[in-house]
Amino acid sequence: MFSKHVTKDLSAYCHGELSNAESRQLAEHLISCSKCRTKLEEIKLGIRLAEQLPQHSAPDYLWTELEPLIEKQKPTPLRLAPKQHPFVAVWQTQFVAIAAVLVLVTTFGIFWVYRNRPVPQTPASWEVARIDGTPRIGSAGISNKGQLAVGQWLETDGNSRAKIAVESIGQVEIDPNTRVRLLQTQPTEHRLELAHGKMSARIWAPPRLFFVDTPSAVAADLGCAYTLEVDDAGASLLRVTSGWVALQLRDRESMVPAGAACRTRRGIGPGTPYFEDASEQFCQALTKLDFEQNATSASRTAALDVLLGESRARDTLTLWHLLARVEGKDRIRVYEKVAGFVPLPAGVTREGILQLDQQMLQLWRDKLEASWSSDLLVPKPVAEAYWRLKNGASRRVIKLNK
Ligand SMILES: [Zn+2]
Repeated sequence: MFSKHVTKDLSAYCHGELSNAESRQLAEHLISCSKCRTKLEEIKLGIRLAEQLPQHSAPDYLWTELEPLIEKQKPTPLRLAPKQHPFVAVWQTQFVAIAAVLVLVTTFGIFWVYRNRPVPQTPASWEVARIDGTPRIGSAGISNKGQLAVGQWLETDGNSRAKIAVESIGQVEIDPNTRVRLLQTQPTEHRLELAHGKMSARIWAPPRLFFVDTPSAVAADLGCAYTLEVDDAGASLLRVTSGWVALQLRDRESMVPAGAACRTRRGIGPGTPYFEDASEQFCQALTKLDFEQNATSASRTAALDVLLGESRARDTLTLWHLLARVEGKDRIRVYEKVAGFVPLPAGVTREGILQLDQQMLQLWRDKLEASWSSDLLVPKPVAEAYWRLKNGASRRVIKLNK
């Protein structure tokens, strides 16, 4: 990992001018350095603005104004002050002429440089390598390697698998019976659509640069490794093996750390994240709370009874998310369970939490998070950097148009 700041390489990074190894090192530094990440956001904004600039020819008036100016200097000496020496007058004449030419050359030069500036080297396609069988891009089978262009589908049958190089930010493996489409690849955003099947992603880019749209939520990478599968009904299961992933549909968001999983349903979005080593009864009760829309309040209360009874300290990951998803007495019961494991930090009140005060919820979560990390799976600096980013950075709202 870089120990020094990487600000001077950020522009080259955004334009894909670094080697894969350099990009990866830089991305690792970004995960743990808020200063460089702030700079990266500024550069990305600059790139987005520059991409929107129209290109124009030098306007005619520039020439029509400059030509007479130069012409005017040739025959007519400058008006002299009474005591001025003729040499000064001649010198001034030449000076103005030279200055006019310099202005002209500089203006033309800027225009020329702008017009001929190197275009960012962002390939509009990703390299796909066959692992097994014959994966297809569009209607063409891949025997060894292929290119997946923006808008194209990559499809595997029951016997084929493929690997995609996501530019210099990571790689994605596509399991059998899977259909994915490349939606966008730009320095500021890479986006796949997973229609059905299963993919495994390993991403070393800075957080929120790589997204996967599914029929029921968007997965935003936060520097991590995970698998994502989508069934025929459009429901998905996310399992995170390192770092963090955010699952989002409109204003419903679940943050999923390593060792945890989260289910999604079409029309509902992400459920509540849970650790995979939670008890079976815990998981079943959670599914009921998350997705059984016609459940009676008695049956929801019964599910919450089971869930609270089965909760361990690290299941406060689930309970903390549930605070905003249950109401009234149920919220009070969830609050009390969490408070039994980890007391409120200074400045946070019971009333504030029950009223879903965002700042207080965040402070409590920072304290709870110590019991969510799995030391084997989540490097602590990554988890800490993630929360700093989440707490400090302005967040883009990602919406599915479905
Ligand atoms: Zn730095």
